[in-house]
Amino acid sequence: MATEHVNVLIIGAGISGIGAAYYLQAEQSGRSYAILEAREASGGTWDLFRYPGIRSDSDLHTFGYEFKPWVHDKSIATADLILDYLRETASENGIDKQIRYRHKVVSAAWSTAEACWTVEVDHDGEPVTITADWIFCAAGYYRYDEGFTPTFEGREQFTGQIVHPQHWPADLDYTGKKIVVIGSGATAVTLVPALASQAGHVTMLQRSPTYILPVPSEDAIANTLRKVLPANLAYRITRQKNVVQQRLIWEVSQRFPRAMRRFIRATNARQLPKDFPVDEHFKPTYNPWDQRMCTVPDGDLFKTLRDGSASVVTDRIATFTETGIRLESGRELEADIIVTATGLNLQLFGGVALTIDGTPVSLADKVAFKGMMLSDVPNLAYAIGYTNSSWTLKVGLLCEHFTRLLSHMDEIGADICYPELPAPDMATRPLLDFGAGYVKRAIEDLPRQGLSYPWLTSMNYQADVKLLRGGPVDDPNLRFTSSSRIEVFA
Ligand SMILES: Cc1cc2nc3c(=O)[nH]c(=O)nc-3n(C[C@H](O)[C@H](O)[C@H](O)COP(=O)(O)OP(=O)(O)OC[C@H]3O[C@@H](n4cnc5c(N)ncnc54)[C@H](O)[C@@H]3O)c2cc1C
Repeated sequence: MATEHVNVLIIGAGISGIGAAYYLQAEQSGRSYAILEAREASGGTWDLFRYPGIRSDSDLHTFGYEFKPWVHDKSIATADLILDYLRETASENGIDKQIRYRHKVVSAAWSTAEACWTVEVDHDGEPVTITADWIFCAAGYYRYDEGFTPTFEGREQFTGQIVHPQHWPADLDYTGKKIVVIGSGATAVTLVPALASQAGHVTMLQRSPTYILPVPSEDAIANTLRKVLPANLAYRITRQKNVVQQRLIWEVSQRFPRAMRRFIRATNARQLPKDFPVDEHFKPTYNPWDQRMCTVPDGDLFKTLRDGSASVVTDRIATFTETGIRLESGRELEADIIVTATGLNLQLFGGVALTIDGTPVSLADKVAFKGMMLSDVPNLAYAIGYTNSSWTLKVGLLCEHFTRLLSHMDEIGADICYPELPAPDMATRPLLDFGAGYVKRAIEDLPRQGLSYPWLTSMNYQADVKLLRGGPVDDPNLRFTSSSRIEVFA
């Protein structure tokens, strides 16, 4: 049987892959594409995580696509609303028909002579081969099969149930139960209030505090604008407002960390009981936005701390016991259920093994170009969004730039494109300058980034608008060749 060939192969049918397909259809209608999705459903993150309360911490006016207004009253949205939005985008644009489910990409081999990728896929245990001119990797940033759980002393002694939020059992009945949630990140602060409404008591056990900022779950300005303006215009204005707002909070955090710390502390203290030890539980050792800030819609976490249905403990785990957890302070926490909200295992490019003309690609030796391609890797673009703002804001710009790059290649008659470092010893730094545990654990195996454009992976939307939307796609660091002539154009 002849091997199927597509112009662009998108890996992943999450928010990024569906978005990439939209831009391809809109801007490159002559090109064929397919989306390969390892799971049997679209939506990625928003379908995988099923724990109670699962929601965004970004507002959907910036997390949503630029081309499709978010029209719900809730601006911080639950996973089911986000999934509806993604799937509606896919179906109303015919993208759903291009998704091949249960197709896990295992490896991709580039051939310069043929100017294409040969992609090996596992489809329900059966090997499938597809060739593609380009790969657009929208496979997210973490392993789907396994969340991260540190080794806990005495884990096997615990007679209750241990649950990881990435693998939440659909039939878990926690009514009236004593629950300890280990962690202090976005997942833990989402879970605690969601569980507290039914559980006997929920304890959030953290090793160290995180910055937690209450935000309104509804955006009053957005909802008013939507009543008086056409949906597209209202969305555009709200999106701009929120982009500026997010950037402002980030900039102020970077420039005036002490003022920001004071502001967050005062906000937290206002929401907590009078005698609450705010500094013990809500005063991190790092500065705001050195790690992703956690938001709690309408202060729901603080409400549960006020009404006593939840509590927070800052301590270290000495060991799990038969009935719960013993802490280093000697205190014991009783539990029927322990939830390990201890994070993700970072994995870029869907774990796909890449080779170029037979030589394996070592990601750690590569440098990111414009935050969307890798040095010396031809015809491969990827979607990695912001970590300090809504992921999708960046992915939309990357998709736009990618489609412009394809048009440019058509214009100059090139079919191969790869970034080349200006000097092999160009100074680099880690790809993600982010203190999160999952980043630190994997940073050595990731590509790096340069110190300035175009080798810098920007985390600044305004700068990216200039570079990716306004700037030329041609670049002195990009090599364009044609497989028929193998000739350098630029
Ligand atoms: C619980 C949680 C909440 C979050 N909340 C926010 C938020 O509020 N704001 C924000 O900006 N970010 C948030 N993030 C980060 C979030 O993951 C991204 O913003 C966004 O959802 C990523 O979308 P994506 O499509 O790039 O990747 P994903 O959603 O991870 O989707 C990737 C898809 O690729 C598929 N895939 C992976 N490898 C392969 C392969 N080898 N072959 C075939 N298919 C493959 C996966 O099955 C998956 O469907 C959150 C993350 C988590 C875990």
